[in-house]
Amino acid sequence: MSHRTVRLIILGTAAAIPDPSHENVHMVLDSGDLKLLIDCSGSPASRLMRAGIDLMDLDGLIVTHHHPDHIYGVPILLMNLWLMGRRESFPIYGPQKSLQVIKGIMDLYEWDSWPNFPHIDFRQIPLEPDTPVVSNQVVSITASPVEHMVPVIGLRMTNRRTGQVLVYTSDTMRDPCVVHLARDADILIHEATGEYFGHSTGADAGLDALEANAKRLVLIHYPPVRGDPQAILKEAKEVFKGPVELAEDFKVYEF
Ligand SMILES: [Zn+2]
Repeated sequence: MSHRTVRLIILGTAAAIPDPSHENVHMVLDSGDLKLLIDCSGSPASRLMRAGIDLMDLDGLIVTHHHPDHIYGVPILLMNLWLMGRRESFPIYGPQKSLQVIKGIMDLYEWDSWPNFPHIDFRQIPLEPDTPVVSNQVVSITASPVEHMVPVIGLRMTNRRTGQVLVYTSDTMRDPCVVHLARDADILIHEATGEYFGHSTGADAGLDALEANAKRLVLIHYPPVRGDPQAILKEAKEVFKGPVELAEDFKVYEF
């Protein structure tokens, strides 16, 4: 990795039903001294190891919404951090409802009785466009609400040295707020679940990319089970004439 690039490593690509080669959607942003997990499903510790990221180097977690396929990995992530010896405070950023659901799950595990458990620093992200989330000298991350059946944010990550932008929409249907989030993105990672309420088809993702003037479209949260990712890809390509591809688990995007 050159010192000017930031990496986003895809740890999972599937919509709600995963298969052996497509875990539920989650990813890790690596800008050298800042490493953030984004959404949390499957076994994040094992996926991070395979991606070459040390669990103990994680600086925090951003959750986009509280649907199970985006947060069910949180209890085991926190337990693994604790067992590996993390004592330093661990931040979790997300919409208020997401944080409330995570706290509720952890309360059922009676986590306040786990000895020497690190402080979890819940940081609520308001549902307003272009809300700053985290930044350092290399990268800045902002969140904007998108349109799903529950409160949800999409993320816009900017490499502050090169000005390049990567956007992750999370789960959303077509809406002008998605175009706003994705405006002029170099890499637009857009959900493409298919014809389900609250979600996007391949054509929807293509239209968002076109209207936002994105340079490259990457489809994620597609259905490897009970769906046809190749048909979704074809649909997107019919609308958006720039490069379009399906994300794959462990693929790395540099920006
Ligand atoms: Zn969802």
